[in-house]
Amino acid sequence: MHGLMMDRPLLVADILTYAEDMHRASGVVSSTVEGGRHYQSYPEMAARCRRLARALRALGLGPGDRVATLAWNGYRHMELYYGIPGIGAVCHTINPRLSGEQMGYIVNHAADRALFVDLTFVPLVEKLASQFPADLTYVILTDAAHMPDTSLANALCYEDLLAAQDDDFAWPDLEETTAAGLCYTSGTTGNPKGALYTHRSMVLHALMVGISMQGSMRPGQRVLPVVPLFHANAWGTAHAAPLTGATLVMPGPHLDGAAVFDLMHSERVCSAWGVPTVWLGLMQEIRSRGSIPQGFAEVVIGGSAAPTAMIADFEDRGVSVCHAWGMTEMSPIGTLGHLTPDYDDTPAAERLALKSKQGRRAFLVELKIVDEDGTALPHDGEAAGELFVRGPTIASAYYNDEAATAAAFDAEGWFGTGDVATICAQGFLSITDRAKDLIKSGGEWISSLDVENMAMAHGHVANCAVIAVPHPKWDERPVLIVVPSVDDPDPDSIRAHLAGHLAKWQLPDDILFVEALPLTATGKVSKLTLRRAYADHRLPQTD
Ligand code: ADP
Repeated sequence: MHGLMMDRPLLVADILTYAEDMHRASGVVSSTVEGGRHYQSYPEMAARCRRLARALRALGLGPGDRVATLAWNGYRHMELYYGIPGIGAVCHTINPRLSGEQMGYIVNHAADRALFVDLTFVPLVEKLASQFPADLTYVILTDAAHMPDTSLANALCYEDLLAAQDDDFAWPDLEETTAAGLCYTSGTTGNPKGALYTHRSMVLHALMVGISMQGSMRPGQRVLPVVPLFHANAWGTAHAAPLTGATLVMPGPHLDGAAVFDLMHSERVCSAWGVPTVWLGLMQEIRSRGSIPQGFAEVVIGGSAAPTAMIADFEDRGVSVCHAWGMTEMSPIGTLGHLTPDYDDTPAAERLALKSKQGRRAFLVELKIVDEDGTALPHDGEAAGELFVRGPTIASAYYNDEAATAAAFDAEGWFGTGDVATICAQGFLSITDRAKDLIKSGGEWISSLDVENMAMAHGHVANCAVIAVPHPKWDERPVLIVVPSVDDPDPDSIRAHLAGHLAKWQLPDDILFVEALPLTATGKVSKLTLRRAYADHRLPQTD
């Protein structure tokens, strides 16, 4: 028997319209690329989004078109987050930290029709433009006064485009399964893969984050996503804040500890979200100034495991830590580490141990751990297995990539995360290892396979393996372990060879020579053995 409720679609534009109607005093504060701070209420933002919608249509963009962004966290990027899907197009956020090769692949794979780019990244785009589709429309996210001299063909000025339109625009009715956003992850081996979010998944994810983070996601509170809009929906903040009435405080390109501290302090940010590396910088600042930013009450740490010492440091200073785990493919929130009042009487050491785990599943996210045969393991805190997830905010396939899709999902349609985990009886997830062969440095992925393939092309390398070595600032850094093919291998020459193919931050911090690599039972290089053997390796830069 079917129920009899209206089948109205869940649409991203409804979040914006709701914020405009109901959260008039809240909005977006931005530390801008041009310098200075910019304040915009949600009603002002909604009006500019309507101008943007008209401008996009005037550029000939419409339903299904992929419209890319290459931008920091700021109000114009937020407008793109709503204006692009609002007309039925797909907002494709590009991570500027990817290598030029990966960026070229992504723009072509997505078949982007337009690219909205921050001033900072104009030189980068100029270098890559020959790899991009010839008819790509470039829009620079600035006003006429700051338009740069650029070699980009017919580059347009964002503020001029908006000024040419009025804000009289009615958001069209769309099917809720229409694609709204596209974000490529390099979080698995091989080419980057696209997670293609729907309006429905975005709205459900916003609701999920809103109800999970009620302490900060509400009117009168200010939330700072240091986690970028170009990475997995800034963990849902871009949608949850307007929905719930929290004000967003956007750092723009200013991400060092001092800048983040000053912004948080002067804007009374209560909740800040980002990867551990960012919080190391802020913590240093807190220590040297002897106080936390005024109003700072909550920090959401994810993207990599939050070190227990960092959690303790924040909590000792009165900042509640929420350790979160997720993936781009999951919109991205999977688990959140708040402790409910049930744990109020739990001894401090035990609370700290619980907070060091990755948290408990969010509403709409199902978790299972399985052994090598795919058999489900008990949630007893002991059994460790590969973690699979299912839910309406989780990708059902990769965009236009059948091989990657086939490799990622099990027969029942669960998505394999590539993380190895335990889940305890109370539901706390603990990531114990990674099945995927990757290094996560400062929240960004480095594919060990890519680096190995390139290293193998060097004449001095007979065999090699790249592993992650713990790093105090970046969480992990790559180290290249080489079985040389010559008597006097030259690390500098190998390094120079790699530098020709990789972004600087993807280069190994150290190159070590060994006689042989340890092998597993099936004859593969045992990364696990290597990682354990070099867990205490001191990197040259660290010394
Ligand atoms: P994000 O960086 O937003 O979490 P990615 O898709 O880039 O998304 O990376 C997801 C992967 O990052 C996870 O599969 C996991 O390996 C790692 N990860 C994310 N959060 C944590 C965490 N809290 N602890 C340990 N690993 C994490």
